[in-house]
Amino acid sequence: MKQCIACSMPMANKEDFGCGDEKALTCIHCTDADGKVKSCEEIFEGGVQFFINVTSVSRLDAEKLTRKNMKSLSYWQDKKCSCLDGEVATDKEFGEAMSRL
Ligand SMILES: [Zn+2]
Repeated sequence: MKQCIACSMPMANKEDFGCGDEKALTCIHCTDADGKVKSCEEIFEGGVQFFINVTSVSRLDAEKLTRKNMKSLSYWQDKKCSCLDGEVATDKEFGEAMSRL
């Protein structure tokens, strides 16, 4: 299954893809209405809200989990973004959070 290059969300259905385009590399949450990939700040905030809503962690822990997720993706490796600077969840913490999804 394809995964979003910016947030790693699995894209199974047409509507999961940015603009409903199955050739898109990014998901509906990471793509704006013009088909452009959203900014790091927006995608980071979306990830934080996702972890808070789905795993009931604190804001701080959600930020650490989001950083862990985004920093593992090649898409962000060459991008400088201040929201990716800071504490990162450990593999164990991330694994525990993922098991609660
Ligand atoms: Zn995405």
